Amino acid sequence: LHTRLPAVGTTVFSLMSALASEHGAVNLGQGFPDFACEPALLDHVDAAMRAGHNQYPMMTGVPALRGAIAAKIEAHYGARYDAASEITVTAGATEALTTAILCCVHPGDEVIVIEPAYDSYAPAIALAGGVPVPLAMQLGEQGYSVPWDRLAAAVTPRTRLIVINTPHNPTGSVLRAPDMRALADIVRGSDILILSDEVYEHMVYDGARHESVCRYPELAERSFVVSSFGKTYHVTGWKIGYVAAPAGLMAEFRKVHQYNVFSVNTPMQHGLASYMADPAPYLELPAFYQRKRDLFRDGLKGSRFTMLPADGTYFQCARYEAISALPESEFAQWLTREIKVAAIPVSAFYSQARESGIVRFCFAKKDETLRLALDRLSSL
Ligand code: PMP
Ligand code: GLN
Repeated sequence: LHTRLPAVGTTVFSLMSALASEHGAVNLGQGFPDFACEPALLDHVDAAMRAGHNQYPMMTGVPALRGAIAAKIEAHYGARYDAASEITVTAGATEALTTAILCCVHPGDEVIVIEPAYDSYAPAIALAGGVPVPLAMQLGEQGYSVPWDRLAAAVTPRTRLIVINTPHNPTGSVLRAPDMRALADIVRGSDILILSDEVYEHMVYDGARHESVCRYPELAERSFVVSSFGKTYHVTGWKIGYVAAPAGLMAEFRKVHQYNVFSVNTPMQHGLASYMADPAPYLELPAFYQRKRDLFRDGLKGSRFTMLPADGTYFQCARYEAISALPESEFAQWLTREIKVAAIPVSAFYSQARESGIVRFCFAKKDETLRLALDRLSSL
């Protein structure tokens, strides 16, 4: 069989969720909330369905939703995107990421991917015939950070795209203003594009602000900015996201999107558009998740886990070297089977085998779920 991705297997998230349910473990592995979304959001979607919004929407997305997204970006980041030509609604962030890669990466083009990296980037680059160029984050006292000097050194005349992700899955690190300036210095004067995965944009803690690329005009003019309603509104199963990009890039993006999914679920787009008129849900998100982060971190203080900083996302990374010498994948499986708490090995986010003795826990869970997990983990 001359298929395109022979080496690709089932994602670590699916595997660990299956193992968690097989062993009746508390699932802090795959990143999704175990609590309900706001009932008001369901009412908006229900009203949209009953109002008859049940046929194909525009290929680019329902105009009201694109308008609401553009208004949110402007209110939040002070950046203007034209809702007609610069915003597209996608089938989750995953489709936005893959579509962006397919529309601009040619066979042989290099794409710099900062590792650990979310697992969908590399297969999409491979489908485009591109060459992923992994660039490892460094891990110091302050947690994970991007070594910009090494990233600059990885740029070649074949570099077409740099993928960034902030807040970052799985490390929970966030890029700060000096990071964004370092990135701008690297791409200035080149034709390198940026794919900025910002699905956790509303989960930045301790009073810090999210450094979206769209705050930086020099970066925004060459960037695809990707987000996901699944994360923001606790509905990961809806698989609706969006991409914002300058009109020239967006025109190319839409050529691929048009023949990949064509368009995205109509009633949910209408429901989201009217629900988004109230900014409260996403403005409250940092406090909501920071409390859960702190509950989880405090609960592990008495254990032999060492917490890494968790400045953003709904993930907490922890070192377990004082508990076990197992490689990450085996430790995560042991934790699931024996301790009955599932986690994700950070090694799964690297293209080359790399063991750091760190696993990722998802704290987007009911307090009672977190307490049950903590009961089990704190004895370690
Ligand atoms: N990027 C990152 C960093 C993610 O964590 C996720 C969610 N797992 C996605 C993209 C995909 O988002 P969606 O579910 O909207 O496709
Ligand atoms: N984004 C989620 C995570 O990182 C998982 C998404 C998926 O299952 N593909 O855990």
